[in-house]
Amino acid sequence: MPIISKDDFSYHTNDCPDVGDGMRTTSLPEEVTSIDDLECSCWDKYESLDELD
Ligand SMILES: [Zn+2]
Repeated sequence: MPIISKDDFSYHTNDCPDVGDGMRTTSLPEEVTSIDDLECSCWDKYESLDELD
């Protein structure tokens, strides 16, 4: 389940060490269509968005 950073509204995994204070969200926005659209390195362990819970 992704987390949205309250600082810059970037998306992170729920175990990201860098997200700090964030809000849980149930889904990613429609404009995010691949892992490559997510900037934080915490997504590197996922090969595709299909692996997200
Ligand atoms: Zn992150």
